[in-house]
Amino acid sequence: MNRDKTINVKIGNISIGGSNKILIQSMCNIKTSKTKEVIKQINECAKLGADLMRVSILDIDDARAIKEIKKGINIPLIADIHFSYQFALECIKSGVDAIRINPGNIGTEDKIKLVVDACKKKNIPIRVGVNSGSLDKSISNKSSAKALVASAEKHVKILEKFGFTDIVISLKGSNVKDTVEAYELASKKFKYPLHVGITEAGPSEIGLIRSSCALAPILIKGIGNTIRISLSNDPTEEIIAAKRLLHDLGLYPNYPTLISCPTCGRTQVNLIPLTTKVLKYLEDNHINKKVAIMGCVVNGPGEAKECDIGLAGGNKEWVLFKKGKVIKKLKDKDIFNNFVKEINKIK
Ligand code: SF4
Repeated sequence: MNRDKTINVKIGNISIGGSNKILIQSMCNIKTSKTKEVIKQINECAKLGADLMRVSILDIDDARAIKEIKKGINIPLIADIHFSYQFALECIKSGVDAIRINPGNIGTEDKIKLVVDACKKKNIPIRVGVNSGSLDKSISNKSSAKALVASAEKHVKILEKFGFTDIVISLKGSNVKDTVEAYELASKKFKYPLHVGITEAGPSEIGLIRSSCALAPILIKGIGNTIRISLSNDPTEEIIAAKRLLHDLGLYPNYPTLISCPTCGRTQVNLIPLTTKVLKYLEDNHINKKVAIMGCVVNGPGEAKECDIGLAGGNKEWVLFKKGKVIKKLKDKDIFNNFVKEINKIK
């Protein structure tokens, strides 16, 4: 998939934009000054595949906590700041790798300049993060794709006026159509990397559907350099969801693929719980193979010819196949353990 051309922006020891891979990020849901818990959560997310993590800065204790958090983690850290140039300066002093702040919201030009100069001095990028819930009223009272882009442009122009171009932009709506359109417009208008996401997406089931609906068409068009799947859930769930989404779009190659049928009246094996257990096993053990679990032999091996290994159900037994060729039969009882043994043979 050809990616849209953007400039390259460095965040800590990694780069975003240009021809770099799409980075996965999430946000801690613990008060930032609770440093031990925050470090633990960031490291859990990093272990699962997060490239970046963001923390919110509500007070000076949060800003100062950045220093301690940085000592305990190995991935770049972004501070999310609203309205306060002092908190931004304190985060920069504490060694944060990037800040998310909308310069038009932090006061007079001298205050903006202080933040921009501090970022320049330490090569810290700024994400301009426009959100449909907090749109600039001087631009529009109503959220729309055009309003999201115009709002981002307003903040970007302020930074450019100070000669600052280490910029990443996000334009998150809570509505799929506006969000897709906003990112399409933004990719034409800006040369900066885009952080793609849908805001306030909802609890897991709803959030996953809404995020996939918005992110897939954007990413398929080659737009987007980093993603967050916002869920009303633990951030580790966001990382897993982001990897699965990118993998299905061909943008995260080293990841397991599980194909399984929906089951029907022909199914005579216990397929549904098996798929959950097998997926967990593949993901936990980083077995980046294509695995099929099909309910019957009528369609099973044929439908999953491209798979490395698979099962097709029969009458309380399974047929094991590899690359579409039937190898042997396995009993439904103990199928998980026996299938895992076979998967490990092809690792
Ligand atoms: S693979 Fe077989 S059991 Fe599964 S849905 Fe298709 S026909 Fe039904």
